[in-house]
Amino acid sequence: MATLNISNKILNWYYNNKRDLPWRHPKSKEQSHYYTLISEFMLQQTQVKTVIPYFKKFVYEIPNIDSLSKVDNRKLLKLWEGLGYYSRAKNLKRTAKLILKKKKSLLPDTLKDLKELPGIGDYTSRAILALEYNRKVIPLDGNIERLIKRIFYLRKINEIKKENLMLKTHLLGYSSRQRDYVQALMELGSLICKPSDPLCNNCPINNKCASFKLKDFKILKKIKSNKVKYFKVDIYCGKEKTFLIKNNKFNFLKNLLIFPMHEIKAIEYNSSKSKKFQIKISNMNMKILINKNNKIPNKKGTIINYNKIGNAIIPSFTKKIFNVALSQ
Ligand code: SF4
Repeated sequence: MATLNISNKILNWYYNNKRDLPWRHPKSKEQSHYYTLISEFMLQQTQVKTVIPYFKKFVYEIPNIDSLSKVDNRKLLKLWEGLGYYSRAKNLKRTAKLILKKKKSLLPDTLKDLKELPGIGDYTSRAILALEYNRKVIPLDGNIERLIKRIFYLRKINEIKKENLMLKTHLLGYSSRQRDYVQALMELGSLICKPSDPLCNNCPINNKCASFKLKDFKILKKIKSNKVKYFKVDIYCGKEKTFLIKNNKFNFLKNLLIFPMHEIKAIEYNSSKSKKFQIKISNMNMKILINKNNKIPNKKGTIINYNKIGNAIIPSFTKKIFNVALSQ
């Protein structure tokens, strides 16, 4: 199938409509690589508008790969606090150390070398190759995936498999300004081809779009099955102090401070009259039973004053449970 020949139209639209995002103003090649690394890590699982203030503060406090490789872990996690998925922050520091070891302050320039870095998968590798090396690749993020599904009117389950979507990226064509073209595609998906109510009248490629022709904009999604799991959390409340442990038992929030907790059966959760709390974390719907106890246990952990919890480096998961436990 021939490519659509749409890159120039999309690029022209982009130059007139692009957002002024802080990672789009690097002052040097090294800074450009660094900004791409930080923003791409932050944007995994998190929306642009949430990332902007975090990014600004992060690069102000930790301005380059060298300082990232040496940053104190407490400072790193504090700057990440609220973004969630804390493994991203730790992987960033590990990645910075490896980059410095191998190639000074620039990111690797092959898919293979990029994928060897912690926290960098297929998508981020392709994004880095396009944005920093102007390579003719298209990373498949949520925005570009939605564009492809609509332009080609993909409405069958086998059509929306990743392999097929990757094949379709070739039909979007390439540009000698690939770094701009990739950002333009993402921007078009984000600002115009929105998940609901796409702004087709403002779309530069509406004459090439099958969904526009058919006036049918529904998006077919893979059905994700979120596992439901039940947990009992022990919250020790004594003399305005509570007790947290380092999590080395569960895959989520690894090595971070959580309340002592263990998995329980649904029947125990459903039959209990104790306070309950629900949260979605790492593709899991957690149903949490809150068990308050007056005595601080005599085992390895961290005792923390109630009034220090707000500013402490602990995941928002733990803070939310604490707030629910203490609410009336
Ligand atoms: S015409 Fe509408 S549906 Fe098609 S790509 Fe543009 S915004 Fe999306």
